[in-house]
Amino acid sequence: MTKIVVIDPGHGGKDPGASANGLKEKDIVLKISKYAKAALENNYEGAKVYLTRSTDVFVELSERANFANKKKADLFVSNHVNAGGGTGFESYVYTSINGGSTEKMRSAVHYEVKKVYNGFKDRGKKKANLAVVRETAMEAMLLEHLFIDTKKDANFLKSDANLKKVAAAEAKGIAKALGLKAKSKPVAKPSPSSGGSNNLYKVQLGAFASKANAEKLVVELKKKGYKAYIDKE
Ligand SMILES: [Zn+2]
Repeated sequence: MTKIVVIDPGHGGKDPGASANGLKEKDIVLKISKYAKAALENNYEGAKVYLTRSTDVFVELSERANFANKKKADLFVSNHVNAGGGTGFESYVYTSINGGSTEKMRSAVHYEVKKVYNGFKDRGKKKANLAVVRETAMEAMLLEHLFIDTKKDANFLKSDANLKKVAAAEAKGIAKALGLKAKSKPVAKPSPSSGGSNNLYKVQLGAFASKANAEKLVVELKKKGYKAYIDKE
């Protein structure tokens, strides 16, 4: 089951969006969107993610919606940064949405993202007549990631590590909204030095006259997760 997600980094190119505190909205939302695409595709099964822009270019609002419609996306998520002197995080769906699958999906994403913005105001789940949520044919939402012109908010957004956390939460919310399963994580490799002790016991596993045979065993052991090397007598 593949789900198609279109993530929309707002603004771009000649349109920087809001700018303050040495930050431009277009740059922040591009980073969040790229990190979210990577997080979704790397950590969840069956996510196919497209960005409406992956570089610093201008894209018309209708073009963004048309792009998602042509891709037959299952979900559209637009990323923006607020301005105007407030603080905190808020999300939007189209004005006429009254419950239903759009509201469910928005709630899933809002819930995960707001956890990363703890210490900031949750401005709530809102509705507005915004072009990208109006003209998209699928469930659609727009996220306002803090206020670029408020010092505390801007300081949070200045950190790439923070933007990655926001993106990971956005990906988790999207995965929940679409019912995508997390990929199984690789099992931790056994290591001779693990076990809470500083003692290190080395075991010799073979002595070979032929270097090729010794190398073969090293390859086998490494495949199984052991540290192995050839020690010449
Ligand atoms: Zn914006």
